[in-house]
Amino acid sequence: MIPSVLPTYNRAPFTFVKGEGSWLITDEGRRYLDLGAGIAVNALGHAHPELVQALTEQASRLWHVSNLYQIPQQQALADALVEKTFADTVFVTNSGTEAAELAIKMARKFWYDQGQANRIEILAFEGAFHGRSTGAIAAAGSEKMTKGFGPLMPGFKQLPFGDLEAVKGALGDRTAAIMVEPVQGEGGIRTLDDSFLKGLRALCDENGALLIFDEVQCGMGRTGRLFAHEWAGVTPDIMMVAKGIGGGFPLGAVLANERAAAGMVAGTHGSTYGGNPLACAVGSKVMEIVADDAFLAEVGRKSALFRQKLEGLVAAHPEVFEEVRGLGLMLGLKCKALNTQVVQAGYDEQVLTVPAADNVIRLLPALTISDDEIAEAVARLDRAAVAVKAEA
Ligand SMILES: *Cc1c(COP(=O)(O)O)cnc(C)c1O
Repeated sequence: MIPSVLPTYNRAPFTFVKGEGSWLITDEGRRYLDLGAGIAVNALGHAHPELVQALTEQASRLWHVSNLYQIPQQQALADALVEKTFADTVFVTNSGTEAAELAIKMARKFWYDQGQANRIEILAFEGAFHGRSTGAIAAAGSEKMTKGFGPLMPGFKQLPFGDLEAVKGALGDRTAAIMVEPVQGEGGIRTLDDSFLKGLRALCDENGALLIFDEVQCGMGRTGRLFAHEWAGVTPDIMMVAKGIGGGFPLGAVLANERAAAGMVAGTHGSTYGGNPLACAVGSKVMEIVADDAFLAEVGRKSALFRQKLEGLVAAHPEVFEEVRGLGLMLGLKCKALNTQVVQAGYDEQVLTVPAADNVIRLLPALTISDDEIAEAVARLDRAAVAVKAEA
């Protein structure tokens, strides 16, 4: 008999009832060091007092009001994002997938309005993840996500990861946009050279195609800059944001420059919940805390510490781990043992990591993780590696 919860997930047998910073506590009182943070969602850890306060204060006043009316909390969040980024304008969504949908629509509408309605093609990359809507799975294109759900939305092409020559060859007079994660998350914490992102920008400038960055996972301070593309010194035309921006409350956004967004006039897009006062009150507080030079510098410092310890871990267990990869506190351990086995051994040591493609385990801790917790995390991963070796 089918379970009452549609069984689309493989769930670990833990029931967490409470969170405190980098820790999750089960119904049996067991404490787990959380290096997954809801897959880069709980950017400020669990139950951050300032977020709890922002949420509960707003909750006692007004939860939801339609976008038929003015929403000052949404305005404040958009203003903060515009002030701190390349963007001129923001549409607030509830998720990353919804942000992907709007990014696709915006790119196509742009060319339609230019009188080039045939420019509908969006170039994406192998290993990408942009969400689970029909549009987002068509963009990523992997068989794992698309099989059985056809016909897929037409107009997407996947290119080899990080291959600028392939982009050159694929760009043409039907190209509407290029969509790319500056650091792939689900794809296995795969970084791109600055030169690749710069190259994409230059190719888009030449061809006219819009450049879309998906910073749903790598954005909001995760890499030590507010957005990962800042490292490469290039800006997109459109950017998808979600996960960390809500600190655990469902929230996403599409950021765009004026040129790219010009076609999205009244009536062209909408959302019932997108930009509601509760989500935006929390999002504004997250922005206030994360978009701060001292906070971001701390992410960078802790990243260097974590990375150095992880290099030691890899050196100590070459049979289990191959390399450390990533940027900031978006770290990955490429495994030699099966990554899911390493995640499982971590569970036994009460440390939570997240598997990704390319046989990687992801370490996406709260950006507020302490130095002691980093040391504790590596000690637990070390014991997990010993256990994996013993099983082999
Ligand atoms: C998680 C993710 C999404 C989808 O976000 P949802 O909020 O799950 O819809 C899109 N792109 C990237 C890079 C992601 O990591």
